[in-house]
Amino acid sequence: MKTEVLQPTPQALARSAEILSAGGLVAFPTETVYGLGANALNRDAVLSIFAAKGRPADNPLIVHIQDRAQLKDLCEIPELAPDLMAAFWPGPLTILFPKKEIIPSEVTAGLSTVAIRMPSHPLAVAMLRSCGLPIAAPSANRSGRPSPTLAAHVLEDMDGRIPLILDGGPCDVGLESTVLDLCHGQPCILRPGGVTKEMLEAVLGMEVTVAGSVLRPLRPNEKALSPGMRYKHYAPNGSVTLVEGEEADVLSALRRLYQSSASSQERACVLCFSEHMDDLFDCHPHSLGSKSDHAQVAHRLFHILRQLDQEGMERIFSEVLPPEGVGLAVMNRLGRAAGFHTVSAKQVLADHPI
Ligand code: AMP
Ligand code: MG
Repeated sequence: MKTEVLQPTPQALARSAEILSAGGLVAFPTETVYGLGANALNRDAVLSIFAAKGRPADNPLIVHIQDRAQLKDLCEIPELAPDLMAAFWPGPLTILFPKKEIIPSEVTAGLSTVAIRMPSHPLAVAMLRSCGLPIAAPSANRSGRPSPTLAAHVLEDMDGRIPLILDGGPCDVGLESTVLDLCHGQPCILRPGGVTKEMLEAVLGMEVTVAGSVLRPLRPNEKALSPGMRYKHYAPNGSVTLVEGEEADVLSALRRLYQSSASSQERACVLCFSEHMDDLFDCHPHSLGSKSDHAQVAHRLFHILRQLDQEGMERIFSEVLPPEGVGLAVMNRLGRAAGFHTVSAKQVLADHPI
């Protein structure tokens, strides 16, 4: 199959509507990452998303809508949802709703809840409007790869596997949406994203919890509240080590880890904040963005992870952010890219004396 990449024109939107109505797949930009969309009400179309991505069938999809009126056909609406929708839709918040019969079980991987969000990206909105369908869309990467934040990333993973990519330029947020569960007691963040715990609490006036597996691997026999948490995600080909501790120790530890790895002929680099690029100039540094601008770090992260693969990096040593605000979402993705492999800077300095 030839994959077309089209700029956003009325003709391209008409083509996307034609493909989606016929049960085909279209990759499209959202404000979070690029999505791989299909008609959420067409079982075969939904199955072809899993095939194109190589996604495990037990990892459910997010349904995208452009009008709140679409909700009544798709799901029940929990009591806390309207305030959240008023505050954060359109935008990077996905809410779990009790699903209605019309949603095929393939979309929800057999769960009784369906994840729904209303994106704000003008091209996503235009595409949803022009086809008039609820669109099931996971991130448009091959399963296990970092999510795409440029049309070129989608092409890298999906060339020859899907008919159309709508090119809307770089994604704004750069990390996937926040996934919030309102269906099982206290509101709980299953996946952190651009809408933070603090922002949700301010609207709800109550505490919002965060699923334990956001910042650590699932324990043996622990049930994944969000099935996606079971899988290795966001992983570059090289091994990633996170270094935490006091800033000065972290910079010294990054240098020693880099030197030890480079002296064993491994292709190594460090990921550090822009403020530390000069300090680490001889450690093949890559900038994560400013340590005082977490949104910028989120925006850059997946792009950098893909770049590391293009450069054939084997060993990657990285600074970390405090897990607050958007920093929680960054650390969830970076943690998973590292298989949650974190070392303390003090320990590294003790293990690698000069
Ligand atoms: P992606 O579309 O690739 O961003 O992945 C969607 C994320 O939403 C995955 O982590 C899924 O596990 C999660 N998700 C989707 N539907 C549900 C659901 N009904 N219950 C819990 N998590 C869900
Ligand atoms: Mg994904």
